[in-house]
Amino acid sequence: MLVIYNTLSKQKEEFIPLEKGKIKMYVCGPTVYDLFHIGNARSFINSDFIRKYLEYKGYEVSFAMNLTDVDDKIINKANAENKTPREVAEFFTRAFFDDIVKLGVKPATIYPKATEHIGDIISMIERLIQNGYAYNQDGNVFFDISKFKNYGKLSGKNIDDLIEGARVEINTAKQNPLDFALWKSAKPGEPAWESPWSTGRPGWHIECSAMSCKHLGDTFDIHAGGNDLIFPHHENEIAQSEAANGKTFVRYWLHFGFLNINNEKMSKSLGNFQTARDFLVHYSAETIRFFFAQTHYGAPLNFANEGLESAKRGLQKIDNLIQRITNSLESAVDVPDSLSAFDIAQFRTAFESAMDDDFNTPRACGVLFDFIRDANKALDAYPAAPRQLLIAIKEFLDITAAGIFGIASFEQANTNAPSLENELIELLISVRVEAKKQKQYQLSDFVRDELAKLGIVLQDGKDKTTFKKLS
Ligand code: AMP
Ligand code: ZN
Repeated sequence: MLVIYNTLSKQKEEFIPLEKGKIKMYVCGPTVYDLFHIGNARSFINSDFIRKYLEYKGYEVSFAMNLTDVDDKIINKANAENKTPREVAEFFTRAFFDDIVKLGVKPATIYPKATEHIGDIISMIERLIQNGYAYNQDGNVFFDISKFKNYGKLSGKNIDDLIEGARVEINTAKQNPLDFALWKSAKPGEPAWESPWSTGRPGWHIECSAMSCKHLGDTFDIHAGGNDLIFPHHENEIAQSEAANGKTFVRYWLHFGFLNINNEKMSKSLGNFQTARDFLVHYSAETIRFFFAQTHYGAPLNFANEGLESAKRGLQKIDNLIQRITNSLESAVDVPDSLSAFDIAQFRTAFESAMDDDFNTPRACGVLFDFIRDANKALDAYPAAPRQLLIAIKEFLDITAAGIFGIASFEQANTNAPSLENELIELLISVRVEAKKQKQYQLSDFVRDELAKLGIVLQDGKDKTTFKKLS
């Protein structure tokens, strides 16, 4: 039985999808005005673990992640760089896709963009006005939180306290300081669309309500995002969607713990961030993913290089076993009863029960490492590699390490994929081959050693030299 901690009820609940065998899941995605940082990457990777585990359990997952492509931050960046907001958004949308793929994150089923859903957003705002939940003030439309009875139910915030605290902010256009913008009239030069209220653009919160309901239905299963989004973003999403549709918006709310640096959240505004792209120069996607998998998605995680270094060492154990299997399979012998000596089913059960317990990836990693230790021992007991056992071990690693966690690979796909980096490595390999032919052994060793310093290990085969990138 899968249980999930639901921020709404503040307890673990059995997960039952609305429609048997299908899951509709929405995760708040990036505002595309810059490269994303490894704090964002932690949220993207945690949602990837969850999605892949749900798929492993046999669910058909419709996974939507929005791209906020109209926003003050985009407009400011465009002004600063003398570009149009659209150019900025398109550039960083491409960068987002590039980096997400490098991190081994499976692309979402759909990436709805705000600018492509202006009609849906306008019609949701119209419904909110009709239902008496929103008002137009000089071309700006606000949500009236006093009309929504359950405002505060997700964050557990007390509205009177919030209003008290918000009084300092004086905004004469709003009836109540907590009311938030659904539609903003545009200043000259800003991206803008025609609407019944003004030429303007949507607020941030309404974008997620309109796009999630459009693509996943008025009520859907899982909505996730970083902890910072519980209030006000997700609270506002609930208010808008339930007020417009008169139905429960989301059944399970999941929130990701923050990646902190020196116990302060990593964020662009604090300037204490490192982009995922920079990080991928020093650490492989597998190492980064494994580092994140070792902490529960809901817990805060303090970023430290030591943690990454130890993740790197841990991965070596998985890679060694994978190498052992790959090397042994060709010369393996049939030993049908080799399976009876090693109880793989027990590890599978333990792995599943860890993941069924609110996606407890650290516990599941523990199971994986117990498995690796015992699998090595079981193989040691045979003078010649037993094929059936090798295949069963490989299967387990394929599902867990390579599949759900994405921290190892039997294909070494990253080594073979065409890329400028791989082509340059191939070029250096041919320089080394040429040097050896000319008996310039100092040069050939130099190439090998310098590549090794970069974590690229050459393996001399009979007719060809191949390479492996260490994590
Ligand atoms: P943003 O581009 O800032 O809107 O963030 C995109 C996603 O990353 C959202 O789900 C955020 O909640 C999440 N996020 C932002 N900063 C962090 C962090 N330091 N650690 C974990 N998740 C974060
Ligand atoms: Zn959102």
